[in-house]
Amino acid sequence: MPHGQINFYLSGTEMPKQPSKIIDIHTHFEGAIDLNALAEILYNKFRKGLVKSEELEQKFQNKFQHHLAKDLIAIYLKSPASQQSTCLNKIASHLKKRTVLNKPAKDLRDFISHIPTAFIRWTCTSTTELEYLITQTLAQFPPTHSYLEMQFSPFALKTENLTLEKVIEAFYKVSEDHKYKNFVKFAICLRREKGDLNSQNLAKLTQILRHSGISQKSIKIDIAGEESNYPLSNFTGEIRKLIDSGYELSFHIGETTDRDLGFALETFPEVKHYNHGIKILDHPELIKTARERNIHFATSPLSNYYSGAATKTEAKSLPVRFAKAGLIYSINSDDPVLLDRDLLASYSFAN
Ligand SMILES: [Zn+2]
Repeated sequence: MPHGQINFYLSGTEMPKQPSKIIDIHTHFEGAIDLNALAEILYNKFRKGLVKSEELEQKFQNKFQHHLAKDLIAIYLKSPASQQSTCLNKIASHLKKRTVLNKPAKDLRDFISHIPTAFIRWTCTSTTELEYLITQTLAQFPPTHSYLEMQFSPFALKTENLTLEKVIEAFYKVSEDHKYKNFVKFAICLRREKGDLNSQNLAKLTQILRHSGISQKSIKIDIAGEESNYPLSNFTGEIRKLIDSGYELSFHIGETTDRDLGFALETFPEVKHYNHGIKILDHPELIKTARERNIHFATSPLSNYYSGAATKTEAKSLPVRFAKAGLIYSINSDDPVLLDRDLLASYSFAN
């Protein structure tokens, strides 16, 4: 993370209403994807007869994505072959209708179920398709953005066809492109509740990274997932190993519980990037430590409101409270596909 650049407008006591250059260091690929590109890949699959309705039952345990896939197949089957572009538009708008939240989700679990991860996995079965989706997703960020740190979950995206190795390669191939080289840094998201951090998976991951030829400097690892039921202390050894192997880390922490904040600050002083971290605001003594350690809080008030992690009033006041606490913070998009696609919406939402 280019700390200097970020500090340029994010520390200090006042939030800029319209920053001239936007840095987004907390946005998830799965929650930011270009739905039009996804529709296009899907449509081409329909045309080649690669999508079979019967497979749906097995593919989607998640009810939401199951219905979505069923609806899209119906749209395709009803469209005459002569109306390709109309069909494509219909698929894209249906994807949007189902994914974008018009009101806050019931809870974090409900919020996460709208992220079309299983759908991406089902649609992108080759590296070419995945690379196309990544490229188009990056292209959505307007020129006002000068730097992006995008998290992706290789363990959630991998399939039989697209192995862990291929998924990782696809992301780093795109980031090596001269167009994106200084613009994007991809962070590997490891989910607490899914076993991504178990020793077998970590060994596999680090082996792939070592043999990939990707420079360690361009790799970041984000510890994410369900923090309420999976304390960070469950993974102390694994996290320590990653840090000692020279990987830069970030934590999804302090979004729904304050339990891990003190532990993280004491045990892993090397980790400077906390995603959300909003629960720290209730703890003056932790604020003091975070300030001394130069922790950067990559907040996303709009996402906190839509996920139910904060009330509207609380969420709106978050940036002001971070500023008053003297903490380094930024405003980020998190899962823009579920909210409003424009990051500036997060700025105008906040007080
Ligand atoms: Zn996040």
